[in-house]
Amino acid sequence: MTRLEQVSDLQPSYDVVVVGAGPAGMAAATEAAAHGLEVLLVDEAVSPGGQIFRAITQTPLRNREVLGEDYWRGRAAADSLLASGVHYLPGATVWHLDAGLQFGLSVGGRAAAVTARRAVLATGALERPFPVKGWTLPGVMSAGAAQTLLKASGMVPQGRVVLAGTGPLLWLLASQLVAAGHPPTAILDTTPTGNWRHAVRAFPGFLRSPYLAKGLRLLMRVRRAVRVVPGVTELAIEPGASCAAELVFHRGMRPAERMAADHVLLHQGVTPNVNLANAAGCALEWSELQACFRPRSDAWGRSSIEGIAITGDGSRIAGAEIAALRGQLAGLDAACELGRMDAEARDKLAAPIRARIATYDRGREFLDRLYRPSDHFRLPHDEALACRCEEVTGRQLREVAALGVPGPNQMKSMLRCGMGPCQGRLCGLTVVEAVAAARGVSPADVGYYRLRSPVKPITVAEIASMPRKASDEKAVLRV
Ligand SMILES: Cc1cc2nc3c(=O)[nH]c(=O)nc-3n(C[C@H](O)[C@H](O)[C@H](O)COP(=O)(O)OP(=O)(O)OC[C@H]3O[C@@H](n4cnc5c(N)ncnc54)[C@H](O)[C@@H]3O)c2cc1C
Repeated sequence: MTRLEQVSDLQPSYDVVVVGAGPAGMAAATEAAAHGLEVLLVDEAVSPGGQIFRAITQTPLRNREVLGEDYWRGRAAADSLLASGVHYLPGATVWHLDAGLQFGLSVGGRAAAVTARRAVLATGALERPFPVKGWTLPGVMSAGAAQTLLKASGMVPQGRVVLAGTGPLLWLLASQLVAAGHPPTAILDTTPTGNWRHAVRAFPGFLRSPYLAKGLRLLMRVRRAVRVVPGVTELAIEPGASCAAELVFHRGMRPAERMAADHVLLHQGVTPNVNLANAAGCALEWSELQACFRPRSDAWGRSSIEGIAITGDGSRIAGAEIAALRGQLAGLDAACELGRMDAEARDKLAAPIRARIATYDRGREFLDRLYRPSDHFRLPHDEALACRCEEVTGRQLREVAALGVPGPNQMKSMLRCGMGPCQGRLCGLTVVEAVAAARGVSPADVGYYRLRSPVKPITVAEIASMPRKASDEKAVLRV
């Protein structure tokens, strides 16, 4: 692997440019390079690993028990990347991609345009918004953020730590905190009790998947060490008098209960990070089962735009194992498309990979059905900041949606929601769900924000730093 540091280290073009060095991106880049292609792998993080293997090559944690073997398996993926012919640019943000396969990226305060013959987006997942009252208070953060602090800095929250929400990651973090010797005080479980009825039909598949044993071990470890409060149907967070926060929650018709906390860690699942694909013009589709939008893609990850493939959790939430396997498929398909092998050879190499994907996929539907967050918690509380960038409240969203606004783009022009630095990452789904609820239709009928470049904030100085050639002049004007 060739580690690049700055824009001047970049070539003007590559055979394949992969965005995201998580399990999917590392696999796609390593596979494509193994077939002799010139591959650039770009990631915002300073080291490879993505979300699950965050800081795998430099974590301060030494006790393997804390994060568990699933995490340490990332070392092999990172080592394969390090041993590959990939050009790797860490600490760089990709803020533009178009149908001409031209990328705009920034690193170290300077920007550059790079073209590719094939683009592979492995931009991963984001935590779903959880717009309850008080989710922006000091002492409140997402479970994923707390886990990133644990992986990258070996830090654990002190004092009374309450986890609230639903989803595998919430239980995983709880078990990691228990293993670190800092068990959370409690878990307020917002998993709708009715979900079991919907999930049971997919239970046989789960029983035959690799997730069963792992899941049971994890749940037993947590339930032995942490108070679990099931069936939470209403949740609000208030500033505490003698603590950072006070959780106020209801379980069905029972009277309100309160719980003091120094840290509140919220989580209700992950959804594909669609921003770059959306701004590049890739078609999105609504998944009712996973209650989120995702880029439309085929069995090789090919999107609706010729030459752009989307893989990993950025294309469909399916977990790290499947993300890596589908990354490999995207790498194989790039090698085939760019003439390094014929379709027959590609399909032969892909067959065992697809078989392994099928094994893991057996358990997916059960997890999606069991941990599907309630409609109630996907809609914003009136007093919650639904759009944190532009400070738009749930009440404002409802009032404007009640005017019969057709979709999120109109909400954006009326309320500025989605116009801030996060470009709708934290409010997109909430705004869509609020409009869908007001119109009494599915989010599929409402659609998502129509995003444009730059999908991440860049400075004028970065744009001004881009090289000037006649073609660049034209390219810059096109951005
Ligand atoms: C906060 C969080 C923590 C998680 N922790 C776990 C866990 O511990 N265990 C588990 O099984 N699953 C975990 N998951 C689920 C996770 O989605 C998958 O397990 C797995 O990491 C998906 O792999 P991926 O390669 O598709 O994406 P990711 O691993 O998410 O990698 C995507 C990479 O793309 C980069 N990227 C995105 N956009 C850009 C851009 N515009 N420019 C440059 N770089 C970009 C990101 O920095 C990231 O490194 C977590 C998810 C989240 C959101």
